[in-house]
Amino acid sequence: MQRYSFWSLARHALRGHRTWQPAWRDAQPKDAYEVVIVGGGGHGLATAYYLARNHGVRRIAVLEAGWLGGGNTGRNTTVIRSNYFYPASTNFFERSLQLYEGLGKALNFNVMLSQRGVLTLAHTPHQMDMLTRWATSIRMQSIDAEMMSVPQIREYVPLLDTSASARHPILGGFIQRRAGVARHDAVAWGYARAADDLGVDLVQNCEVLDIDVAGGQVRGVLTSRGKIGAEKVALAVAGHSSVVARMAGLRLPIVSTTLQAMVSEPVKPILDGILISPTVHAYVSQSDRGEILIGGRADGYPSYAQRGTLPALQDTVNALVNLFPAFSRLKLMRQWAGVVDVTPDSSPVIGKTPVQGLYLSAGWGTGGFKAIPAGGETLASTIAHDRPHPLIEPFGLDRFVTGHLVDEGAAAGVDH
Ligand SMILES: Cc1cc2nc3c(=O)[nH]c(=O)nc-3n(C[C@H](O)[C@H](O)[C@H](O)COP(=O)(O)OP(=O)(O)OC[C@H]3O[C@@H](n4cnc5c(N)ncnc54)[C@H](O)[C@@H]3O)c2cc1C
Repeated sequence: MQRYSFWSLARHALRGHRTWQPAWRDAQPKDAYEVVIVGGGGHGLATAYYLARNHGVRRIAVLEAGWLGGGNTGRNTTVIRSNYFYPASTNFFERSLQLYEGLGKALNFNVMLSQRGVLTLAHTPHQMDMLTRWATSIRMQSIDAEMMSVPQIREYVPLLDTSASARHPILGGFIQRRAGVARHDAVAWGYARAADDLGVDLVQNCEVLDIDVAGGQVRGVLTSRGKIGAEKVALAVAGHSSVVARMAGLRLPIVSTTLQAMVSEPVKPILDGILISPTVHAYVSQSDRGEILIGGRADGYPSYAQRGTLPALQDTVNALVNLFPAFSRLKLMRQWAGVVDVTPDSSPVIGKTPVQGLYLSAGWGTGGFKAIPAGGETLASTIAHDRPHPLIEPFGLDRFVTGHLVDEGAAAGVDH
């Protein structure tokens, strides 16, 4: 693999940047593979990379209906944090955050990780109690979380309306300082380039139309580019998990809905960290380009339309202007949406399925970007050993039969 460094940048600059190699090959599908991964988003690409790197599997293909990273991985608001409530979640998401902390180096690709902190606000005494309990639970698991008083919040986010007469008075909050953002495309491209270097075939414009299952065992897939045999198949298709799993006869406990985000015109630096208000269903950060990046609640009904509705957008902007009156003078530049797959307990479904050789990475809902490194690492281990990795044991499909749910609804940040 051509290494990226200051020196290679300088060398290529002298040649007018005409001699860079493509970051990955344009692979053509082969007749059969050991492992076929459906979906070329962050989870599919990371799974392929760790399968090749950690487990020495060589015959791997990632089949992507569109282009790599064109799904939710390229549409999200890039918040990375590990401040969940239950140990099952914190253990998993903390592993992911730790992998993110070394990801740029591991992949030789700048993922632009910026650990600028995520502050969650409380607007009522009851919420203060809940946040205190939540932060205490996180600290008991040796993960960083600090309560913040109103004067501390005022100093951290001066533009926030912290006055007693505010529409949503702020009583306090808690911050995870190691949380932050990373460049979403770079995460997909970094994993793609590193996986390609390990021999993984990345096949774009290749939609999976059916899954071949015989005698309870997966045999391969039928795609828009022909039949491909496979000993094992993993599904990492985010908003389309139910549709694709049904091809193998599985019915998932998942509802798909639309989540949108938007950016304002660029302005000077005014917001250092990321701010979340679960009460008003809004979260906000400022991008490196200066745009105010705004996210909110999901649309209130199931949909596969990748665009989002005006009422949800208006609610989000309304909420944000209540928190930051100065933002009323900003102009919105762009809005977009992704289809997210939400489970009843707001936790992912990752691991084995009742079909032998078929694996699933789904139900990431509105929070799976932060999970990409650990999701890839643990699913790769699960595929290689045909046994759930310990970190994802609590997130198996069978929890909807046994009733051992991991109810992280409150820790989803905003209501979904
Ligand atoms: C607006 C928005 C904001 C978000 N904000 C955050 C955030 O701040 N932090 C966070 O952690 N998470 C966030 N998320 C969630 C996060 O983006 C997703 O959970 C994550 O990107 C899922 O990754 P993935 O690889 O599973 O899916 P994707 O990136 O969606 O990849 C799935 C791929 O599968 C492909 N595919 C589908 N069907 C087929 C088929 N039949 N054959 C072949 N390929 C197929 C699709 O084309 C797609 O490229 C947000 C999501 C949205 C929409």
